[in-house]
Amino acid sequence: MYKMIIIGAGPSGISLAAELISDGVPSDQILVLEKAEEKSFIMRTLYPAQKMVTANFKGLNPVANGVMKFYDCYKDDALTVLDETIKKYNINVNFKSEALRVEKKEDRFVVTSKSGTFESELVAIGIGIFGRPNKPDYKIPPALIKKCQYDITSTNIENEKVCVVGGGDSAAEYVKHLVDENNNLFLSSREVDLSYMNPQNRDDIIEMDKAQKMKLLAGSNIVSLEETDEGQIRVNLKEFDPEHVVVDRMVFALGGTTPSNFLKVMGIDLDNDRPKIDDHFESEQVPGLFVVGDLAVKKNGGAIIVAFNTSEAAKNRIMQKYVKN
Ligand SMILES: Cc1cc2nc3c(=O)[nH]c(=O)nc-3n(C[C@H](O)[C@H](O)[C@H](O)COP(=O)(O)OP(=O)(O)OC[C@H]3O[C@@H](n4cnc5c(N)ncnc54)[C@H](O)[C@@H]3O)c2cc1C
Repeated sequence: MYKMIIIGAGPSGISLAAELISDGVPSDQILVLEKAEEKSFIMRTLYPAQKMVTANFKGLNPVANGVMKFYDCYKDDALTVLDETIKKYNINVNFKSEALRVEKKEDRFVVTSKSGTFESELVAIGIGIFGRPNKPDYKIPPALIKKCQYDITSTNIENEKVCVVGGGDSAAEYVKHLVDENNNLFLSSREVDLSYMNPQNRDDIIEMDKAQKMKLLAGSNIVSLEETDEGQIRVNLKEFDPEHVVVDRMVFALGGTTPSNFLKVMGIDLDNDRPKIDDHFESEQVPGLFVVGDLAVKKNGGAIIVAFNTSEAAKNRIMQKYVKN
């Protein structure tokens, strides 16, 4: 039986393992289960290549409290920080091991995953919110599904007409990346003033629009998508000028959804779409079950250093309540 099973090998899961090992929990007492073939899968797939990964993302606190440190750097360097952490602390990660169920049985948890069933005294969930990206509220015609995507890396997009949908920093970064790849870009944002973007991204987008490097559709609402006779996508906009644009591809950057069913099956209720946990990230209903990272913070509060800090706080509680006494 393991001391702790951590579900998810993103920034929160990796940092929690590093924190515990650094405080003396033997590395062979910790198992990390990762659904994907690689660690930090969300960063690998959703971050554009060459993305500048900022420590104060969304203006959040850039100070890391624990053993993990992080500074502004490019995507590859950010991934290297996490890869090196796994090596340095000898963290045991099982890939292709999606956790399907976690059950509490008297003195232990039983975790059923795609690579087997494991038991532990404690469990932490660090699966983030991007496994289930938010979808638009209009229907995507079946013929267009392959031309509509929710990430930036699964297809090489070059020399195309693309409409990015979203009002946050991810949408802004997708636009900048796709313009650099010689695409012809529209950005459809419901916010007129782009208020969800950080000032740098907002300025960049406004500047690019002015310089006609892309077309900003600020304050636009998409009502439907239709396939044109040429096989392109007609994007219909509500009470807007222009009434529609025609593109080859849609890229949605609408954020992610709390995996509520997964949490509910474990006996964790949600409050305002977030799991009910105490200040130390432990479930109020299931002692010994922790939630860290994006899942544990308020909507729009997720960032790498925030994930590290949730893990550091959880580790303090784990050491005090479950290890040192
Ligand atoms: C486009 C974009 C740009 C961003 N830019 C920045 C930035 O510049 N700076 C910054 O600080 N933050 C940035 N963020 C936010 C940052 O990436 C997240 O806050 C951070 O990744 C959260 O870490 P996490 O460990 O909670 O979750 P995630 O990174 O989502 O990791 C969760 C992991 O769990 C795995 N998983 C999911 N379900 C299961 C399961 N059932 N069983 C096993 N494993 C599972 C996933 O495959 C994944 O590897 C950005 C996010 C996006 C989408």
